[in-house]
Amino acid sequence: MNERIYNFNPGPAILPEDVLKEAQRELLNFHGTGMSILEISHRDPAYDAVHQQVKADIKELMSLGDDYEVVFTAGGASQSFALIPLNFASAEHPGTYALSGSFSEKAYEEAVRLGVGTVAASTKEGGYVRVPTQEEMRIDPNAAYLHICLNNTIYGTEYHNTPKTNGVPLFADMSSDILSRPWDFGSYDFIYAGVQKNLGPAGVVLNVAKKSLLEKSPAELPTMLRYSTFLKNDSLYNTPPVFAIYLVGLTVRWIKEHGGLSAMGESNAKKAALLYDVIDSSDGFYQGHAEKGSRSRMNVTFRLSRESLTADFVAAAKAQGLSGIKGHRSVGGMRASIYNAMPLAGVEKLAAFMDDFRKKNR
Ligand code: PMP
Repeated sequence: MNERIYNFNPGPAILPEDVLKEAQRELLNFHGTGMSILEISHRDPAYDAVHQQVKADIKELMSLGDDYEVVFTAGGASQSFALIPLNFASAEHPGTYALSGSFSEKAYEEAVRLGVGTVAASTKEGGYVRVPTQEEMRIDPNAAYLHICLNNTIYGTEYHNTPKTNGVPLFADMSSDILSRPWDFGSYDFIYAGVQKNLGPAGVVLNVAKKSLLEKSPAELPTMLRYSTFLKNDSLYNTPPVFAIYLVGLTVRWIKEHGGLSAMGESNAKKAALLYDVIDSSDGFYQGHAEKGSRSRMNVTFRLSRESLTADFVAAAKAQGLSGIKGHRSVGGMRASIYNAMPLAGVEKLAAFMDDFRKKNR
């Protein structure tokens, strides 16, 4: 394979080609330092400029003010599942969780392990084909927070509105939809995302949270498990994953240069509609996993009515340079992840391939 293919992997996932090229260009000599960004101290002004710029750009894109802070942690979003209840929940004020898929379940399980988790709603029965409705949410007014997973990467479902919590702080795992559309980020008290889908490589978690909340970590927690440590030290208490943060910086700049969140939102909606149209007009040849009202714009999940064709579909797609289409083992079928960096042309090519495959196999 000499050319770049269309990469529909769920994460790590496609990054903008311009970003990769820029990183390549700057790799040996970052901004005239004669070193790569990989080799520069995290205390060096050259790195600090990157660190401050990415934080400012993220807050600008999210339209958030000084009451919010951007914090970078490592350990993946999976580690955040444990850090969140450790820092913010207690037996008197448990975290309450809306279960909408595997990752929200995993987050909930960590809170349960600590004896501080309850369930506000669950759509597990029925196979997570949709997200919970507002009416289904039973939010304990005493809860430390309501935790939701905004986009469910495996099931291909997504919230299209922010739930109302009646004053209970709102926490969201936005790993698979962060900065993919204009959103009311200011309604959230704590946002976190493993960046390896819409924003960069694996290795860093972007947290954007109210400063007043981040200050509240219990003093008895080990230093590196306290969000307050990251707040007080500007995410520089220890060596942060500098290269990952740098690439997030380039990607965020790319988002800004390409029209910001409204342009991302429009393009992502258009790409998703193309694929859902093929599914809906296939006379049942393709069957979408998600209920229409909860369809994800980021991960389009579907199966073939003739399951025996699945391997052929995946192989034929790959032969055309359409890679990473196979669904997660727990759901089966197919999943096309079409994050910000996936060009419209890639989705058009997949849609045409799906049409063609149906005609050949009906
Ligand atoms: N939340 C969501 C929505 C995810 O899609 C993923 C990973 N696919 C995770 C959490 C876990 O992230 P990590 O691998 O960074 O721990």
